[in-house]
Amino acid sequence: MFSFSPQANCLSGKTILVTGAGDGIGKSAALAFAKLGAEIILLGKTTEKLESVYDKIVSLGYPEPAIVPLDMQGATKLHYQGMAETIEHNFGKLDGILHNASQLGTIMPFEQWPQDMLEKVMQVNVNAAFVMTQCLIPLLKKSDNASVIFTSSSVGRKAKAFWGAYAISKFATEGLMQLLADEFDNTKIRFNCINPGATATKMRATAYPAENANTIAQPDEIMPAYLYLMSDESLTVNGQSLDAQV
Ligand code: NDP
Repeated sequence: MFSFSPQANCLSGKTILVTGAGDGIGKSAALAFAKLGAEIILLGKTTEKLESVYDKIVSLGYPEPAIVPLDMQGATKLHYQGMAETIEHNFGKLDGILHNASQLGTIMPFEQWPQDMLEKVMQVNVNAAFVMTQCLIPLLKKSDNASVIFTSSSVGRKAKAFWGAYAISKFATEGLMQLLADEFDNTKIRFNCINPGATATKMRATAYPAENANTIAQPDEIMPAYLYLMSDESLTVNGQSLDAQV
């Protein structure tokens, strides 16, 4: 596992947006960032899941989060511009984004992949992250040190048969991260990727239905890499693709 021991309250004063914050890895990350003092903006598709994470954060006495229910499938630039205005009004700046929400699609032979599924997976995993980041750059520029984390996958580094658009979308995610890291090099905004590795979530269970979830990492166990990249300990790290399980 990636090794990092954060200082207590090391994210205090930071405002961090987490997409797909209602479940799986995003939920664990939202709680882990909040525990270290960050104000979290919880973005996700299912309002009830976001409310449940909100309640947990508040009940633990961490800084009160904000909720942005949004389906990234249908969201347009106008939605992200509106979100940026609301964040600016409420927080004045943005110190971090964890791009975590993704669609898996269906694992099946290339010859059967339906075009509409290709478009849906690319829309959530790549296009939405692209446009959202574009709309939030002005707020990231207002941070003393901003960290943007994209979520990659092992099939986004070495493609595997049957993983279809999901694999392609993760290659594109690595590319988007590299492009931004280069374009914003020597600025106060850094861009990196994390490959979570096999982690027990709904998505993993969909991809590997026969697997015993107790034999792989739990979302809370892979948090050190996320905390490292979000904290100021990684200020000089830009354009890297880390493995949460090394
Ligand atoms: P989950 O399916 O458990 O969680 C995905 C989250 O994304 C959910 O909260 C979901 O919301 C949200 N989401 C999905 N589609 C949309 C959408 N259209 N709009 C807004 N939110 C959306 O997945 P994981 O936690 O496993 O995955 C997190 C990230 O890690 C993904 O990027 C995935 O590709 C990556 N990853 C995961 C691995 C693993 O083994 N788990 C391995 C490698 C990479 P809702 O619940 O409301 O639908």
